[in-house]
Amino acid sequence: MTIQKKHRKPLTVDDYVEGVLSGDRVMLARTITLIESSAKKHRDLAEEVLKRLMPHTGNSIRVGITGVPGAGKSTLIEAFGSMLCEDGHKVAVLAIDPSSSVTGGSILGDKTRMEKLARNPKAFVRPSPSGGTLGGVTRKTRETMLVCEAAGYDVILIETVGTGQNEVAVRSMVDFFLVIALTGAGDELQGMKKGVMELADAIFINKADGENKKRAMQARAEYNRVLYFLQSPTEGWKPKAYTCSALTGENIREIWEVIKEFEEVTKESGVFEKRRSEQMIEWFDWMIEDELKRRFFENESVKELLPKLRSDILHANISPTQAVKKIMEIYDQHR
Ligand code: GDP
Repeated sequence: MTIQKKHRKPLTVDDYVEGVLSGDRVMLARTITLIESSAKKHRDLAEEVLKRLMPHTGNSIRVGITGVPGAGKSTLIEAFGSMLCEDGHKVAVLAIDPSSSVTGGSILGDKTRMEKLARNPKAFVRPSPSGGTLGGVTRKTRETMLVCEAAGYDVILIETVGTGQNEVAVRSMVDFFLVIALTGAGDELQGMKKGVMELADAIFINKADGENKKRAMQARAEYNRVLYFLQSPTEGWKPKAYTCSALTGENIREIWEVIKEFEEVTKESGVFEKRRSEQMIEWFDWMIEDELKRRFFENESVKELLPKLRSDILHANISPTQAVKKIMEIYDQHR
């Protein structure tokens, strides 16, 4: 007797939307998988689902977290996230790690991180979408964030590793940006790029425990001195440095207190809403750019002509400027 393979009925837009809105974690995960898919038929379905979910998004505080590998991000997010869940929050942890597309490996690590938090029924931990450019990963993470909000998550933590570029991408989608720092031997600030400090709404120096505590306090003073002279990324808010220990839990609550104060101050001044509006427009502009690029490079005539033009440029048969003019003409004719 042959066993007939049972085909799973494809999910409809309603299935996805109702599943997410009811807070069903399995459906939330499947919706994110749909969003991460680059297949055309999935994109169309995902767009429809997102459109329906949009009115249910926005009700969260979005927090970006960065730090060099080993700074203690996953330990800290596990402690911080668990504390928030105990307080009654629903916490979603997303990651931006486009390194996998470049090196084939991942800086954030392929090992299952934050296992305890991932098992917490009030938390949702999702690793970085695999492959793709930073732009692609960012788009997927942004949409994933919205889906999590529609599913009732009121704290979104977006984790990234310190490469400079990633931080700017995360900063552009969150309300509050937290930098996890370490005390280093000697010059405390050596390890951190000034550019990253300029994005921070707060710096928490982790591992302030045991023998390291005193050094952490000194580092805090030093960071505060530097922060004093830097321009704040957020109007009306002065970023400060703090110490904490993800291992012992000391001062982990303070992270939340700083975020709450930030939220209060910036909502009162209107800076919070203003930033979100600007981020939406920025996102829109980026997507146009993305879409134009995609259409251009997927155009058959463009694909055919590009290698020849590149070779012609190398052989000095045509200047890059002329080559651009030529390929744009071809694109305009064959759109
Ligand atoms: P990530 O790479 O930034 O995610 O860092 P991890 O969370 O994996 O932590 C790297 C190492 O630092 C691990 O061995 C942790 O146990 C340790 N660690 C993390 N937080 C603390 C802390 O507050 N104090 C101490 N002493 N160790 C910590």
